[in-house]
Amino acid sequence: MTTVTTVTVRVPAKVNLQLAVGPLRDDGFHDLANVFHAVSLFDEVVAEPADDLTLRVEGDSIDGVPTGEDNLAVRAARLLAERLGVPARAALTIRKSIPVAGGMAGGSADAAAALVACARLWGAETDLHPLAARLGSDVPFALLGGTAVGTGRGEVLTPVTVSGRFHWVFALADGGLSTPAVYAECDRLRELRGERPGPPQASPGLLAALAAGDAEALGAELANDLEPAALSLRPSLRDTLEAGRALGALGALVSGSGPTCAFLADSADRAESLAAALTEAGVARSVVTAHGPVPGATVL
Ligand code: ATP
Repeated sequence: MTTVTTVTVRVPAKVNLQLAVGPLRDDGFHDLANVFHAVSLFDEVVAEPADDLTLRVEGDSIDGVPTGEDNLAVRAARLLAERLGVPARAALTIRKSIPVAGGMAGGSADAAAALVACARLWGAETDLHPLAARLGSDVPFALLGGTAVGTGRGEVLTPVTVSGRFHWVFALADGGLSTPAVYAECDRLRELRGERPGPPQASPGLLAALAAGDAEALGAELANDLEPAALSLRPSLRDTLEAGRALGALGALVSGSGPTCAFLADSADRAESLAAALTEAGVARSVVTAHGPVPGATVL
């Protein structure tokens, strides 16, 4: 028998190709139709044997990441230990590259990675999906990866067929946006404008563009109901989106609850040149390129 000593799990960020937000439910959540797409911007979570549960967070931009019990990776490890009836013993390290509070579900990604890493470290074979759904609406998708439609709060997933690879540029902003604050602003703006959203639905045109691998059609279909709220809370994002469009992006949108902005390009080369031009334009803290879809949380 081999003893597992160190487990490293790589987990992707997501961008929402479509985020349709339905009316506010009685439980305080919104019904969503959420087309998740996993992209090649990764965090790593390392789990090593220890007598206790500890956490270290590493990375260039980790302000705002809790290092104690509030960290989603720690909550994930505790939940798994409780489910298995074992003591929660692991030294966790998060190597962070996904922007914090950036609308790319970095915390959810770390939770999914911690579930996978601790399950391997503790030799457990258990279905992680229900635990992921308890930890947060975006956590199940971080386990699955690829491209998928999420309904309910986003946690009921149906994988989507995608041809080929799509090329992205992400403009990262200074400081984050709080997801609950963005949803609250969305509700406020809708109330103000007398908008009554119907049941949210994934767009057939968007799904057809994904199946065909048609970047131009996909660019035209990108849609995020949270975008007006994110722009209301962070008006400077308008300039970022406009700059990307003017520089030839096939489509541009705020990622999830923002403030990261996502731009679609028709090739890896075009993505690199768009990233350079956006950097030059000075409309973002930093600019990175990535491609999707990529697999969910994976043991390296
Ligand atoms: P989403 O797109 O799912 O709404 P987000 O990408 O906007 O999320 P996250 O980076 O997931 O935001 O972080 C949101 C908040 O969660 C942070 O401000 C932080 O307080 C808390 N948090 C808890 N655990 C983590 C973690 N491992 N990494 C980052 N943030 C975490």
